[in-house]
Amino acid sequence: MGCVLVAGAGGFIGGHLVKKLNDSKEVRIKAVDIKPLNLWHQIQNEVENISLDLRDRGNCYSVMAGVDLVFNLAADMGGIGFIETHRAACMLNVLINTHLLLAARDNDVKNYFFASSACVYNQSKQLDCANPGLKESDAYPAMPEDGYGWEKLFSERMCRHFREDFGIDTKVFRFHNVYGPFGLFEGGREKAPAAICRKVLVAKLSGEDRIEIWGDGNQTRSFIYVDDCIEGIIRLMKSDVVEPLNLGSTELVSINQLVEMVEDIAGLKLKKIYLPNEPNGVRGRNSDNEMIRNFLHWEPVIPLKIGLEKTYNWICNEMKIRHI
Ligand code: NAD
Repeated sequence: MGCVLVAGAGGFIGGHLVKKLNDSKEVRIKAVDIKPLNLWHQIQNEVENISLDLRDRGNCYSVMAGVDLVFNLAADMGGIGFIETHRAACMLNVLINTHLLLAARDNDVKNYFFASSACVYNQSKQLDCANPGLKESDAYPAMPEDGYGWEKLFSERMCRHFREDFGIDTKVFRFHNVYGPFGLFEGGREKAPAAICRKVLVAKLSGEDRIEIWGDGNQTRSFIYVDDCIEGIIRLMKSDVVEPLNLGSTELVSINQLVEMVEDIAGLKLKKIYLPNEPNGVRGRNSDNEMIRNFLHWEPVIPLKIGLEKTYNWICNEMKIRHI
């Protein structure tokens, strides 16, 4: 792979990817994120860690020198509470992908990965809790999540046309709800698994007997553990696949079921208080894995229960360290 640029390296998935690549000792790594280094989720001291705003074209060109492969995981984003209330900020992520692609083209970078999302899928295909699985073709005709999803879909297409017109080998995964240790679990950008682990832990530590749930709890999702996500990215980059693929689990659960799984791990039972006016997204979203199985002969394997236990234990530890 030579020299690898990981954009968004200070974030959740970027942090795990840098660790995995660094552990392999096969590549030189430039790790870039807009956040100051003290706010990165994970830091590997052996790699070149750079704090820069990648919306800026000049910054993209300055970090691209000598790079052979780009992983673009940088985005201003968060869970449903964030993306429904920060649509313009999410759309401005287009500047990151645009300027990284231009800098990659002008520096003869051959390989480029873009992290897309299940939020690209047509919302009319996600009206039923019993979602059979979104196929890659369900992104068109387009009616994605407003703001965040439109930007992801547009940037996917930009990757496609940079491949066709300029010969950069671009690859795209549509992530479906990635979770695991070293993610955010408070502050407003956290996703459902981490938020629920935190709420259950707060209840356990404070003796509270209730938990607040956004929506009616019947909305469904599948969740992919971060180790499966990293494994998938590495496999995709070693393949000759060019089409955007789902990267998600097919283990569909309702938010109510997710809460009950975390309650089982914590060893307590809470009264569910529903907040119907809080953002809760589409009714049902699941991953169809036929294409990834066909193309990569692999799909995510880590059961939700196992991944949730690891995530819960990590958050529990962090809350003790931070005295929450
Ligand atoms: P994250 O927020 O933890 O990481 C994104 C990182 O990008 C952050 O550290 C942020 O500081 C950085 N960033 C934002 N703006 C930047 C800029 N202008 N310049 C440089 N860095 C900037 O999110 P994540 O969960 O690690 O997600 C990684 C990628 O995967 C994102 O593109 C996200 O949209 C996509 N994705 C994630 C999920 C998920 O469930 N986590 C689902 C679908 C898609």
